[in-house]
Amino acid sequence: MLRQLQLWDVDRSEHGWSVRQSERARRLSVRVFRNGGVEIVVPPHTPPRRVSEFVSQHREWIERQRQRAAPAAVWPLPPQLLSLTAIGEQWRCTVLAGPARASLREIAEQELQISGRLDDRERLRRQLAGWLVERAQRRFEGPLRALAAQMAVQPGRLQVRCQRSRWGSCSRQATISLNACLLFQRPEVLRYLMIHELSHLRHMNHSARFWAEVAQHEADWKVLDRELLHGWRRVPSWIFT
Ligand SMILES: [Zn+2]
Repeated sequence: MLRQLQLWDVDRSEHGWSVRQSERARRLSVRVFRNGGVEIVVPPHTPPRRVSEFVSQHREWIERQRQRAAPAAVWPLPPQLLSLTAIGEQWRCTVLAGPARASLREIAEQELQISGRLDDRERLRRQLAGWLVERAQRRFEGPLRALAAQMAVQPGRLQVRCQRSRWGSCSRQATISLNACLLFQRPEVLRYLMIHELSHLRHMNHSARFWAEVAQHEADWKVLDRELLHGWRRVPSWIFT
């Protein structure tokens, strides 16, 4: 179980920072993503003071890693083009500037119109991220059900989220969660992740038997799994910052 927490004492003006509580974490750790985002993973019941201490101890290292990642962090918002590689769609984004709050709508096949004020970056970001979730929900459902039928498993509902912590999961109630950022991966990678999560319906772990199940449906799983490790490089950084 995972929970997104507020970033207690860390300067709120720092975009792209998050603190995630993980039931499985034994100690504090930090990850710096290719888009410059920073995630602190903490065990349950970690006092906020401990998080602040941890951040100040590692701040220098974190900043160094962020600088290294910086070139990827200059994605324009709104983007001119949204390449949803996984589903073979290229959405053009046209802009109609105006005094109203920014809003977004589909005006033609693979064409989005963003109208209103463009200076409210956070609102724009949220609207676009919300649209990605809807798009993924609509387009992931069919392939997921088709794969499930081939694998003779019965998933529950599909839940799509836009999050930085994980690509997908499968709950004990058989709910399959997929990350909307999978839209930016190759189709083969999306298919692999669906197979991975559906295989959890047979094995709720990452045992040898689990991987054997995955391999039955995707011989190339090792390569695809590794590709997903670096998959954040393909995700435009504005999604989280
Ligand atoms: Zn897994």
